[in-house]
Amino acid sequence: MVQSFYASVLEQIDSTVERLCIDPGIAKIIKTPERELTVQIPIVNDGGEIEVYTGYRVQHNSARGPCKGGVRYHPQTDLDEVKALATLMSLKCAVANVPFGGAKGGITCDPDELSRCEIQKITKRYATMINPFIGPKKDIPAPDVNTNAETMGWFMDAVSMYAGHTMLDIVTGKPLELGGSLGRREATGRGVMLNTMELLKRLDRDPNKTTVAVQGFGNVGSVAAQLIAEQGSRVVAVSDMSGMLYDPDGVDMSALVKFVYSGPRPRLFKDFDGPGHTFEKEGTKILYEDVDILVPAALENQITMDNADRVKAGIIVEGANGPITKKADSVMIEKGVHVIPDILANSGGVVASYFEWVQGIQSFFWDEDEVNRHLKRIMLKSFKEVWEMAEMEKITLRDAAFTLGISKISNALELRGIFP
Ligand code: NAD
Repeated sequence: MVQSFYASVLEQIDSTVERLCIDPGIAKIIKTPERELTVQIPIVNDGGEIEVYTGYRVQHNSARGPCKGGVRYHPQTDLDEVKALATLMSLKCAVANVPFGGAKGGITCDPDELSRCEIQKITKRYATMINPFIGPKKDIPAPDVNTNAETMGWFMDAVSMYAGHTMLDIVTGKPLELGGSLGRREATGRGVMLNTMELLKRLDRDPNKTTVAVQGFGNVGSVAAQLIAEQGSRVVAVSDMSGMLYDPDGVDMSALVKFVYSGPRPRLFKDFDGPGHTFEKEGTKILYEDVDILVPAALENQITMDNADRVKAGIIVEGANGPITKKADSVMIEKGVHVIPDILANSGGVVASYFEWVQGIQSFFWDEDEVNRHLKRIMLKSFKEVWEMAEMEKITLRDAAFTLGISKISNALELRGIFP
């Protein structure tokens, strides 16, 4: 049986606290979310019938600041998944050194089966149901899988209606017209690219002689693929939920992005008719492509004990959260694969969300160059800290990132003291 995502995260925390000899009481706090909320979301669907969905918001740890994390709409989303994602968010914020704790939200639903109007109703009711527990100083949601700037605009509107005024600082990842930040949409993919290039530099490898496969072509995967290609690497394979595109000369990124993102909803690869590439319905094959770098940027639990031995890439950059189970990670270590872990690789999103939150609070907005400059500075600093810790302790980049994250949260807890 595949190890559950939450079990994987807890196992990684266990091995880190053991190595660091963290106080067992503090370890218990770090392993337990502060607050888990399950809410009912009734809406009247387009057919005039009442449908009830289930939503979650988990606040994992606020020792270092207000909780922060995305909201995911997916048929497989459940409380355990949201707990795993919230836990990773606390660690990610600590590694990036942004003054947030971790949170995550989700709604069990299939957006492909819903109209735009139904998704808007679900979003506004969900926002209303979790409203008593969130706020610019408590918990600030953002987009994740199957949610985007439009979703965040609806969310902000619902909360603002209750507040009686417009709340620019209640969510991040909003549309620019509603107080969003320039560079936020691209920030996670940009961070993936920056981490990838930094690793190549440390390994003395030339980006121009590097082949790449990117699983998932959403907010993270599409931007990461484009920016990595712009650095001179050859992105030979990309996949979405309909299958995989392969072109040994490099997939035509600008044509593909234009095709996928020119309609009201992302279009699927299976309908892409550009020249030069082949289409393979079995999308998971992308994980086994003979490339230098694999960027899983879709969902968790993609590389497990069932398929770990089939992975050929020597470098994996975790664009998605939890794409490799803890057990499969040990196979990657044995094979000598360099893995940039999720809590470092995809932290660009929360870093730019921090910038958006600051801009919203001040109602003073930055230009895109400023966002990208600060983003690069923070991403490279985090990478350096993780890399140096890994070198010094002779541990993997994942162990080093968890060590830094857990140490910072544990220090914050000890400095604050247990209340009361
Ligand atoms: P998204 O909804 O924008 O895109 C998801 C993509 O994955 C889509 O292209 C979809 O077709 C594809 N996909 C889904 N199932 C697939 C499968 N089985 N095989 C191949 N492709 C599949 O989501 P996103 O925001 O890009 O998030 C992707 C991952 O990155 C998630 O793990 C998310 O938690 C993580 N992440 C997102 C952000 C962010 O800012 N959006 C930040 C940090 C981490």
